[in-house]
Amino acid sequence: MSDCLFCKIVNQEIPTNIIAENENVLAFNDINPQAPVHVLIIPKEHIPTTLDLNENNYQVLSEMGKMANEISKDFELQEGYRWVVNTNKYGGQAVYHIHLHLLGGRQMSWPPG
Ligand code: AMP
Ligand code: ZN
Repeated sequence: MSDCLFCKIVNQEIPTNIIAENENVLAFNDINPQAPVHVLIIPKEHIPTTLDLNENNYQVLSEMGKMANEISKDFELQEGYRWVVNTNKYGGQAVYHIHLHLLGGRQMSWPPG
C-alpha cells in the first residue's frame, strides 16, 4: 500500500530505529514511547486490521509473537510486559497496518483507558 506509513517503513522510504527483522516481520521503536521499552512488531505484508486476518495470513501473528518474546528477553523484561493490539475506531487504532505494541520497563495499570 503506497500511502501506508508502516509499509513505507518496511520499504525503507521512512527511516526508523529497527530492533529486529526477518523475512516476514519487522520490529522498530515507537516514535512516541509510552514506556521505557515500546517496540512495534509488524508483518511486512500490508494487513490493515486484525479483522482482515484470514486462513492465509493468521500465521503471521505467531511470527510477531515469537519476535516480541525474543525482544522482551533482549530488553530483560522477565518481570513482565504488555502486548497491545488496537483495532479500528473503538480500539483506538491510528495506523491501519497491523502492529503489536510491546510495552515494558515499568508497572502497567489495569483497566486500560
Ligand atoms: P495505534 O494507535 O495502535 O495504531 O498505534 C500507532 C503507533 O504508531 C503509535 O504508538 C505511534 O506513536 C506510532 N507511530 C506513528 N508514526 C510512527 C513512526 N514514523 N515510527 C514509529 N512509530 C510511529
Ligand atoms: Zn501497510
